[in-house]
Amino acid sequence: MTLKFPIYMDNHATTPLDPRVLEAMLPYFSEHFGNAASRTHAFGWRAEAAVDDARDTIAQLINAESGKEIVFTSGATESDNLALKGVAEYYQGKGNHIVTTTIEHKAVLDSCKRLEKQGCTVTYVPAGKDGIVDPDDIKKALTDKTILVSIMLANNEVGTIQPIDEIGKITREKGVLLHVDAVQGIGKTPFDVRAMNVDLASLSAHKIYGPKGVGALYVRRSKPRVRLVAQMDGGGHERGNRSGTLNVPSIVGFAKASEILIQEGAAEAEKLRGLRERLWKKFQRELDQVILNGHPEQRLPGNLNVSFAFVEGEGLMMAIKDVAVSSGSACTSSSLEPSYVLRSMGLDEDMAHSSIRFGLGRFNTEEEVDYVGDLVTGKVKKLRDMSPLWEMHQQGIDIKSIQWVAH
Ligand SMILES: *Cc1c(COP(=O)(O)O)cnc(C)c1O
Repeated sequence: MTLKFPIYMDNHATTPLDPRVLEAMLPYFSEHFGNAASRTHAFGWRAEAAVDDARDTIAQLINAESGKEIVFTSGATESDNLALKGVAEYYQGKGNHIVTTTIEHKAVLDSCKRLEKQGCTVTYVPAGKDGIVDPDDIKKALTDKTILVSIMLANNEVGTIQPIDEIGKITREKGVLLHVDAVQGIGKTPFDVRAMNVDLASLSAHKIYGPKGVGALYVRRSKPRVRLVAQMDGGGHERGNRSGTLNVPSIVGFAKASEILIQEGAAEAEKLRGLRERLWKKFQRELDQVILNGHPEQRLPGNLNVSFAFVEGEGLMMAIKDVAVSSGSACTSSSLEPSYVLRSMGLDEDMAHSSIRFGLGRFNTEEEVDYVGDLVTGKVKKLRDMSPLWEMHQQGIDIKSIQWVAH
């Protein structure tokens, strides 16, 4: 097979739409265009039936008790906002303390910051060096004012999978709600809201080969019944949890993407793990000073986050322009900031800036992995050959011990 360029290996940022998903969506743009809230005619009933089927499929994906527990949103950013702010507002009489981690997505961290301005206190539990959060640290952070723990299933940068089942035991025992941002892990690692005692869970369609701009919040309806204050006022859609006319074609696509994961997710995870190991072994074989970021096994099958010491991630990305990956540097308005996730795992700034995230997905092939492996290996060697720091390292000089003098 011939390779097609550019090659996409950034599947944590978004995934391409599966053609089967597109096919399922198309009729809902045209003949089945009804408003799911129209109760008085067949157009509305047809749309509502499609949405209710979608709820059931998505509920099945996470083993929720009922489709009624699925609240559709515009994406996981909104789901995270609704979970945190909606719970904080409803339960303010009970307490005002939230526990989360330092490696959460910005949708969670920035919601927490907003809530702090409004009088909540938030404890940010750090992950270990391996990117895994210790359930004991969560337990120690709980107080009699804690109403909610929010923790992600899998991290979007280093792919580490958090021990949700252990944390769920702790929160349930203490009578504290548990919200899980499950966006990255869903369909790739086991996730069962009932077995794991999860009370709220955020999902997004475009990370699972569905369309962008649609997501869901799972809100448990029994044992315990979770309550929220809606953050959007309007027609009272979604049982009063989220007003706004439903995006029916996208919801149908979200359900089709979920159905494919239910059927194929486990086999796909195995395939991705194989491709990931192939790429990692190539780097280990051919290069010195390549460090894997995050736990070696307890991570998403398609995630390979590595630091190539003495190489700037941004520079490497420029050198491999026909391959789409991400670096451990975030462009803020004026500067290149090292990733807060890598920093909080204890990486120094240099190693954070040297990191590259390869996100393998459904449509990547072995040929692509081999091409990227060769290309990256060659470019890393070339960039190091031009680096005076690499030369000093080769001569056995400990660069960290040098006192740099400004001239
Ligand atoms: C992508 C992502 C989100 C945001 O989802 P959107 O649907 O793009 O708003 C939230 N959390 C995690 C972990 C993500 O990877």
